[in-house]
Amino acid sequence: MDGGTAGRTTGIASPVERIDLSPPVGDAVKCTTCYMCACRCGIRVHLQDGRIRYIEGNPDHPVNRGVICAKGSAGIMQHTSPARLTKPLLRAGPRGSGDFKEIEWEEALDIASGWLGAIRASDPKKLAFFTGRDQSQSFTGWWAKQFGTPNFAAHGGFCSVNMAAAGLYSIGGSFWEFGEPDWERTKYFLMFGVAEDHDSNPIKRGLAGLKARGAKFISVNPVQTGYSAIADEFLAIRPGTDGLFVLALVHEMLRADRIDLDFLVRYTNAAWLVIDAPGTAGHGLFARDAEGRPLAWDRTQDAAIDAATPGMAPRVVGECRLPDGRAARPVFHLLAERYLDGAYAPDAVAERCGIPAETIRRIAREIADVAFNQEIVLDQPWTDTSGRRHETMRGRPVAMHAMRGISAHSNGFHTCRAIHLLQMLLGAIDTPGSWRYKSPFPRPIPPGAAPVGKGAKPNTMLPGMALGFPRGPEDLLIEDDGTAARIDKAFTWDAPMALHGMMHTVIANAHAGDPYKIDTLFMYMANMAWNSAMNPADTVRMLTDKDPATGDYVIPHVIYSDAYASEMVAHADLVLPDTTYLERWDCVSLLDRPIGSPEGPADSIRQPILPPDRDVRPFQDVLIDLGARLKLPGFVTEAGAPAYRDYADYIVNHQRSPGVGPLAGFRGADGTASGVGAPNPDQLHRYVANGAFWAHHHPPEALYYKHANAAYLAEAKSLGLIGATAQIVLQLYSEPLQKFRLAAEGHGAVQPPETHRARIHHAFDPLPIWYPPFEQTSGSDSAYPLRAITQRPMAMYHSWHSQNAWLRQIHGANRLYMHRGTATALGIADDDWVWVISRAGRVKGQVRLMEGVNPDTVWTWNAIGKRAGAWALSADAPEATRGFLLNQVITEFLPEQGGVRHANADPITGQAAWYDLRVRVEKAEAPAETLPRPAQLAAPPGQRAAPTILRYDTSIPSAAE
Ligand code: SF4
Repeated sequence: MDGGTAGRTTGIASPVERIDLSPPVGDAVKCTTCYMCACRCGIRVHLQDGRIRYIEGNPDHPVNRGVICAKGSAGIMQHTSPARLTKPLLRAGPRGSGDFKEIEWEEALDIASGWLGAIRASDPKKLAFFTGRDQSQSFTGWWAKQFGTPNFAAHGGFCSVNMAAAGLYSIGGSFWEFGEPDWERTKYFLMFGVAEDHDSNPIKRGLAGLKARGAKFISVNPVQTGYSAIADEFLAIRPGTDGLFVLALVHEMLRADRIDLDFLVRYTNAAWLVIDAPGTAGHGLFARDAEGRPLAWDRTQDAAIDAATPGMAPRVVGECRLPDGRAARPVFHLLAERYLDGAYAPDAVAERCGIPAETIRRIAREIADVAFNQEIVLDQPWTDTSGRRHETMRGRPVAMHAMRGISAHSNGFHTCRAIHLLQMLLGAIDTPGSWRYKSPFPRPIPPGAAPVGKGAKPNTMLPGMALGFPRGPEDLLIEDDGTAARIDKAFTWDAPMALHGMMHTVIANAHAGDPYKIDTLFMYMANMAWNSAMNPADTVRMLTDKDPATGDYVIPHVIYSDAYASEMVAHADLVLPDTTYLERWDCVSLLDRPIGSPEGPADSIRQPILPPDRDVRPFQDVLIDLGARLKLPGFVTEAGAPAYRDYADYIVNHQRSPGVGPLAGFRGADGTASGVGAPNPDQLHRYVANGAFWAHHHPPEALYYKHANAAYLAEAKSLGLIGATAQIVLQLYSEPLQKFRLAAEGHGAVQPPETHRARIHHAFDPLPIWYPPFEQTSGSDSAYPLRAITQRPMAMYHSWHSQNAWLRQIHGANRLYMHRGTATALGIADDDWVWVISRAGRVKGQVRLMEGVNPDTVWTWNAIGKRAGAWALSADAPEATRGFLLNQVITEFLPEQGGVRHANADPITGQAAWYDLRVRVEKAEAPAETLPRPAQLAAPPGQRAAPTILRYDTSIPSAAE
């Protein structure tokens, strides 16, 4: 309101009310990047008298355009949380007791560098360095490389690696950071799986616009929460059957001849010839010329020629005879043959998916109608990589988005590939109205170098990054003696394409000494003693187990860094307290998980809004310090002095390759270069002045068809986003997968052990397949008739927000949600307490009935239940007494089969199969509280008592408290 006059009449004209929608709420405002979840929105933090008063979305920021969510605005309470750690801690009592003593940083860094230095000098792989929800993975991964351990990964292996791997090996991109629907033009939008805390604010903005335009939104999800609640149509699919549903849509498109053949021939490998020579080492590979170029059959010349020849008229069906006499057939022939099979007909899949066959047929008709009868044509000329000029940009306005709900199954990789297959058949990849790459994607397929880590040597850095992209069995990280090079067994026959590692197997493998024993488990922001473990009780046992022969812990040293007193803190020997995200320099780098948009690349920074008021240090600063103490290459100068003052100095001056550093904006001595340029000493100030981000906009002719758009690819190369300007051919058929399959058939120098051959042969199909999730076939239907999954609420991000005074008021205790009909048949009513029982154990929770859920599925919110005492929660906190964790009935391994216990994971990527769980539900006896309830954890030294009144000012105790 404007100074008391608003709302009064002037006496002359009509009443005028002038409302100031953004009244000053402080005396200063600073821009930075939110870290209350992984979306990385831009925020404006208002300060008053040197304290944070209010957080709002930054309207200029390319990720959220001013939108902020409940979590983002509650960052104040995260910053003032009583659960914040205050000083380095050294374990004083038994591991897990919470008995610590406070120590000075010098002593903490001495201890850490002593342990780490001894490992590096003897056997660097005895360090397992895993960082959870780390947003600086290009830095932490580089630190691990310079240290010389192959044992590095972040939490992607138990989150959404199926999505990333399937996309990167199929279309050179994926969902979320890799691409998004063309929100402004899409007319038909299909969303698969859970997405409420991934790509959160951009999806909210997108859905709002889509609904306003009247576009149709279909949500395919077992549970109708969040986005599904506003869908025009909600399909309550059975968990783990999305791939089958999508392949039935593919069947219908092929049957009705509603596919974009021009798109397929020009932009995918549909016409590439696949060798048909069963039993030989070349079977199923692409026919290639002497230079290794894939061949297609040109109808004009009636010969196999380079598939990239401009203007050729390739055959897409039929058998061809190659010059060497072998038979070959085009990729399209193989896929049409497969998916026209009656096994993929709607009638054949409907019951299994829980979706009526007529609904599947109707949706296929609707998709075909929008794609082929409602084409979008933009009056925008462009030129493709073959030099053809197109006067317009044509698009099929059907878009798709998928996320963790389909990814976290043991068949998730193929389900994600199936979605991309459908997109390609429709010609709905980076065309107007469909789905668009976000810069710096697309990238070549596969996008980067192979993983590195065999033969780690003392005092020697790795020759490349530990995580990478295998092209075939020769890229696996298997030592000459057949053992795994990595502690998590990523990139072995257990999970050959585990691009993000397998953090969920690290503690179990380290405890078992399989493939070897480690010395130090070094973790950051990974709550492995609770919600980040598939089986927290067993994980705690493994962390605290001692070797009876020596009396030492089986895992000798545990170093942990976090800003808060999570359940994991109590199970560390040395705790390195981190700052909150509002107290440090940080960067969201294009070398890491980027925040670009379809319009162009972008990156951003975090700046210290306030200095820490505790004896804590940014974890990245600590790694810089440790790197220098350990004299790691790149962390010290030739004279042995620290190469970087701190992480801010690294952000500005580190060059991963000449001219390419953590931040792409304001490079060059004068700050005018973008993408590639010399370090700019003023770079961080330029970011601050620009609202804490940098964004580049591609010209209009480069905004679609990026995989084959000459203008886009040339600019992307000049910005350092890609290394070459060649067309990125989308892969309907994946040759790397076939190479693994050939190894399982007995071809090549690197072959799977007998125990794995059948599994590899089945899983590594070069075309998408569907098979039932493993967990769902390993127990009897009658014993565990229900599927159980978790949903990620919009208002909480994993376990982080259980100490957030505002967000706890939204989710203080979770319920077990059941379909009303299913519950009634079991004699269960609203508010009853029940046991959720799996083959791994049982956990007790309170029921809430609903209609919007697949009748065979029960679900709950993720990570609301907590261990008493952790996160500064009192013993009687609802999170501890009534909240429960579904992880308590999940295990990280499947039942033994043929002498092998496979991980409860996707067989291709190793992605943890959280959502494969099968359970039964039984009414529970008193008391009305969750069980099992592990003992209350002791508060670490220095932790303040939580305020009893939830009010802004009471969250900050006086110095005397
Ligand atoms: S969506 Fe995530 S990053 Fe964006 S404001 Fe909310 S919590 Fe912050």
